[in-house]
Amino acid sequence: MKKNKSAVIALVLSACTRICNGALAQTYQQLHEQALVVDTHNDVLISVLEGLRLEEDLSGKTHSDLARFRQGGVDVQVFSVWSDENYGKGRGFAFANRQIDSLYALVARHPHQLLLAKTPQDIQQAVQEQKMAVMIGVEGGHMIEENLAYLDSLHQRGARYLTLTWNNSTSWASSAKDEAAGTMPQSRKGLNDFGRQVVRRMNALGMLVDLSHAGEQTFWDAIQVSSKPVLVSHSCVHALNPHARNLTDAQIKAVGKNGGVIHLNFFSGFLDPKFEKREARFLRRHAAEVDSLRKKERSMSSIRLWLARKYPQEALQVRPPLTLLLDHLDHIVRLVGVEHVGLGSDFDGITSTPRQLDSVADMPLVTKALLERGYSRAEIEKILGQNFMRVFRANQPAE
Ligand SMILES: [Zn+2]
Repeated sequence: MKKNKSAVIALVLSACTRICNGALAQTYQQLHEQALVVDTHNDVLISVLEGLRLEEDLSGKTHSDLARFRQGGVDVQVFSVWSDENYGKGRGFAFANRQIDSLYALVARHPHQLLLAKTPQDIQQAVQEQKMAVMIGVEGGHMIEENLAYLDSLHQRGARYLTLTWNNSTSWASSAKDEAAGTMPQSRKGLNDFGRQVVRRMNALGMLVDLSHAGEQTFWDAIQVSSKPVLVSHSCVHALNPHARNLTDAQIKAVGKNGGVIHLNFFSGFLDPKFEKREARFLRRHAAEVDSLRKKERSMSSIRLWLARKYPQEALQVRPPLTLLLDHLDHIVRLVGVEHVGLGSDFDGITSTPRQLDSVADMPLVTKALLERGYSRAEIEKILGQNFMRVFRANQPAE
């Protein structure tokens, strides 16, 4: 009798779990579908310039293509216009414009699917017309070549944020990488007079000041000068992983006070302090194969893909769990509230992502994880997009 009773209880419990899981599946997919989903950083554009066609199925080659943006329910995608330090004076601005040209061409080829958004109203229109709003962010102050007219011109073409530095410092702003290297004299750290002019000009234009990649001193100088809420487009939490690209608690509190928003990067190396060691061990175990692929001039990212296909279980163990992304998010929420956090995946700019987040198509799983953490529908809507919209609106120039 007792045995029967517990069997019945087990049966009821398992039916409950199935129903509950089913309800969760429906809820998270519906919620994700209905919410405005904004991703503030994607790096696929540089490959588009090199000839990659986002209209094709690029599964296994990239994190992003048009079909997978749709599957992922992405409503607003900021495409990063990026170049390394070799595109400085005389080259950076032209190169940025070529990338913008290629994005314009993509939008022009798909007018029923994409809409170039320069204002909050454009985003609203895109939502109404069921198109993805395409936005432009310029990643690296070196591309304005110390010229405010170039900043104006990039804004005119639709750039709505400028990341003050990439890994390289400019003459007017020091980067996180350079500041953390410990070799930069104090007098070179932060913003100089021209750097402060850049921030003020961006405030006047309605261009978001992006502080990802900024050195700590640059961060403090910029947040002091900016009269508008700032954006941190693709960074994580220093307290959980003390990486120079992540924000300290003091910085997170300052963004909260400023009314800005921090969009979390999905890179395993920013999320997980143990990732680098695990990955190095994995690459060492297969060193012979890595070497022979290198001799064939395969890039490290294509070698990683090759290894992941050949050793799927091992490769999976190298990646952190998706819940770690939620730990970073929870930390920001505990410090400053749910109004100051969002998603800035860095897809196609990073070599490893948490398990389950294989591409832009997997964005709904972040919504599922948020529900599982107990966030309410209203809170999830803020995280997915409304926080960004608040900051974007607050940055609009006065009429
Ligand atoms: Zn970056």
